[in-house]
Amino acid sequence: MDLIFQLEKLKEEALALISTAQSEKELEDLRVKFLGRKGEITMILRQIGKLSAEKKPIVGAKANEVRDWLETLIEDRLLRFKRSSFEEKLKSELVDITLPGRIPRRGRKHLITQTIEEIVDIFLSLGYWVAEGPEVETDYHNFTALNMPPHHPARSLWDTLYLKSPGEDLLLRTHTSPVQIRVMQKEKPPIFIVVPGKVYRRDVADSSHLPVFHQIEGLAVDEGITFADLKGTLEFFSQRMFGADKRVRFRPSYFPFTEPSAEVDVSCFCEGEGCRVCKGSGWLEILGAGMVDPNVFDEVGYNNEEYTGFAFGMGVERIAMLKYGVSDIRLFFDNDLRFLEQF
Ligand SMILES: [Zn+2]
Repeated sequence: MDLIFQLEKLKEEALALISTAQSEKELEDLRVKFLGRKGEITMILRQIGKLSAEKKPIVGAKANEVRDWLETLIEDRLLRFKRSSFEEKLKSELVDITLPGRIPRRGRKHLITQTIEEIVDIFLSLGYWVAEGPEVETDYHNFTALNMPPHHPARSLWDTLYLKSPGEDLLLRTHTSPVQIRVMQKEKPPIFIVVPGKVYRRDVADSSHLPVFHQIEGLAVDEGITFADLKGTLEFFSQRMFGADKRVRFRPSYFPFTEPSAEVDVSCFCEGEGCRVCKGSGWLEILGAGMVDPNVFDEVGYNNEEYTGFAFGMGVERIAMLKYGVSDIRLFFDNDLRFLEQF
């Protein structure tokens, strides 16, 4: 076939294909098809060498002209694709700067979280460190190791929810005290820890009880720790927490894991005159404490001739109620912002 005729046909075909191409990729493929190393124009150019001397320049000029025209056409179309995809991108990323911004509502820490941090900070300043443990506990850590073997009557004070678990007696921990056991099993004295966390009781919710609440446990174990250290520590804590003028009072009590045990009161905000909060007594009960029972040390393998220690535990909600004058514990978890925003 005559090469000039071939070139004309190729031009027609190329124009149809290039002008209907739908993407940059299609255009690149067409560039390869016509102008590539094995492209159709290249094939024609290679045949020119075999032509007669008079035809050579005519066909050669025509082939070059078609090649240049094709290159320009493809470039032009490519540019148009690039421009329109850029415009589309601009459109899709358009930001209407005339819209007023949405002001985010400023959050705050829940009063219970604030109270936990406040209490923990006081003990950190005394050199304590924070320990934590699982909320799903073994019966052993929650009761037995704390001097409450199965059928011990004190267990009924801390009724809880038991989990079905073959081979292991699991329950929702009733206090943060099992963490004492976990820490003492791993570490040697001296131990000075505070343990914040959630605890569970089989309690009906009323103005002073909830089935889930927060405790902070403290444990100090070393050589020569005495009841006087316990009193001094809790007096320091009470004055930092409730005010420098506060006095503390210890009343004898009973806990299976401490001996002797005490309920600890702090002097009321009414300065002893008697008010509704202290029910006229002038004192507010804030926590339970005592010297660690030697049986507990035996359980974790501490020599109870060498080491002594004290432990205390407080309800975070109760502390917050006393400090901030909250009359109903359920207010903390109703999550009514009108209440929470006050703190
Ligand atoms: Zn009072």
